[in-house]
Amino acid sequence: MIQTIQNTLQQYWGYSGFRPLQQEAMDSLAKGRDTLLVLPTGGGKSLCYQAPAVSSSGLAVVISPLISLMKDQVDSLLECGIAAARIDSSQTQEERAEVMTQIRAKTLKLLYMSPERLISNGFMETLKHASLSFVAIDEAHCVSMWGHDFRPEYRQLAQLRQHFPDIAIGAYTATATDQVRKDIVEQLQLRNPQVLVGSFDRPNLIYQIKRLSDRNKQVREVMDRHKHESGIIYCIRRRDVDELSAQLNAQGYNTAPYHAGLPDEERQANQDRFINEKVDTIVATIAFGMGIDKSNVRYVIHTGMPKSLENYQQESGRAGRDDLEAECCLFYSGGDYGVWKSLMRDMEKSAYAIALKKLNTLFSFCTGATCRHQAILQYFDQTLDKDNCQACDICLGQLDLIDNAQEITQKILSCVLRLEQRYGAGYTAQVLTGSRDKRILECRHDELSTYGLLADQDKRVVHDWVEQLVGQGYLAKDGEYDTLAITALGVEGLKGDKIPRLLKPTQRPTRQAKVTQDSWEGVDRGLFEALREQRSLIAAKKRVPAYVVFGDAALRDMARLRPSTEARFLEVKGVGQKKAKQYGQIVLETITGYCTKHHITMDMGNSFQ
Ligand code: ADP
Repeated sequence: MIQTIQNTLQQYWGYSGFRPLQQEAMDSLAKGRDTLLVLPTGGGKSLCYQAPAVSSSGLAVVISPLISLMKDQVDSLLECGIAAARIDSSQTQEERAEVMTQIRAKTLKLLYMSPERLISNGFMETLKHASLSFVAIDEAHCVSMWGHDFRPEYRQLAQLRQHFPDIAIGAYTATATDQVRKDIVEQLQLRNPQVLVGSFDRPNLIYQIKRLSDRNKQVREVMDRHKHESGIIYCIRRRDVDELSAQLNAQGYNTAPYHAGLPDEERQANQDRFINEKVDTIVATIAFGMGIDKSNVRYVIHTGMPKSLENYQQESGRAGRDDLEAECCLFYSGGDYGVWKSLMRDMEKSAYAIALKKLNTLFSFCTGATCRHQAILQYFDQTLDKDNCQACDICLGQLDLIDNAQEITQKILSCVLRLEQRYGAGYTAQVLTGSRDKRILECRHDELSTYGLLADQDKRVVHDWVEQLVGQGYLAKDGEYDTLAITALGVEGLKGDKIPRLLKPTQRPTRQAKVTQDSWEGVDRGLFEALREQRSLIAAKKRVPAYVVFGDAALRDMARLRPSTEARFLEVKGVGQKKAKQYGQIVLETITGYCTKHHITMDMGNSFQ
């Protein structure tokens, strides 16, 4: 069976191998066993039911929570030459009737629908006559109240088991917690399921986490590294979204805003413009993202701190779904901590305690000195199997550890003591750097022995160190005003028995992440751009998103291999038979034309990976 599936992958998708756990997940489902697959965003979950569906006889039903997701997937499948359809409320009566005819004629391989539709009047009965191969439940964490996207309609999927006792159910999610996993198995009544949990590491994401100083400038620095590429910029508040988007547009960038306060039509139109690459960048609150399958998002910027590491993993995970390198930049500030804390104030007591703990963990993550990939994995109880990820600010040496951490720590902690543990991080940093601020003079803190002890340092750097000491548990923040208090660990630090790691920002030029070097290796950038333009034209004509025509990985492979014949074109990763037939001629003309004009060798060796 797995050989048949492998052939299917090559023939329809142009993929020559499996990503981790794909083979196991496909094999299990194809053999009729209930399967739960947990992989991070971009891990390749969809293929785990799509390829077995094409290789099996009968119809596979896919349950999906959003019309936009269904539409995207069905468009992509049709582009690959696979008989797929969806049934949803956005269709006309005629369109729906046409799909019903296809179901009865048994010509479909995959049928997408919402949970409500599946359990609605008579639909289960229709499906009983449709020779189902299996049922796949996408975004399966929606059945769980423990997850972040609970949907009551998903609960009704429990009925599936009664109606189709012999059909295998596949459940797919990127949500990593154990509780959600257990809930999925229970709610969907999975029987002796094959549970497969992949690594949550996304090695192609390059994390950079810095303190916010000048929002507009910091954002533009990232955008300038990604001219004409797709990106998402998250802001905490709606007014920041509007302001930043307008500011960037005035500066010549091509962005659109997205948040729940915009009229529905405008919001939807902006989302469509982003997906169809009419705008490069969407500036949004976290209302944006669910259901966005756009595979070639090359950067995600957070201009404020998310409220938990789960949220950060989810939001930053929207970058680089195509496995190519992508940047995730988070600019945080102590103020964000306060904003979230005040937003959480009305929560019920136990929920507040959990939320605050998560917020603190995220803050420690931001100010910490641990490899970002490692820190995220640790949070999900996994470990990274390498010492240096070569894809985060810490491992790329953009931040250095200072040599005299012990001395600096002692100075900071003594200052907190002298201030009688009654002041916050910003004030303490001011005292340490010898500020002439009115408040300090009024309180006569310029007379303290610790006043100006770090006057040779920038206030912002000292503030960072204070936050790093909080992150590593040497200091704690207390009360409404986040006053600093020395912990038991802090007492040891004061005595010099324990030494924390303190970071110092450096001016060194940034080393390039290894994933970036690898995935561009051998690619002719000019040809890549020419192919990108051609892809836009094709996509506009066909009214599908550009990445549905070809992913960025396929374009880079074309610009690397530079095939001259259709046979060589089929060697490109992401080119299956249907796409080769449909686009082979015009793409080959572009490649040949470009290579002849620029005297570039064609028909190069192996593709990337
Ligand atoms: P998920 O649903 O887990 O977020 P997707 O199924 O959307 O991930 O896959 C992410 C991207 O990776 C898609 O562009 C998909 O075509 C591609 N992909 C999946 N499996 C493979 C594979 N075995 N080889 C190459 N590309 C793959």
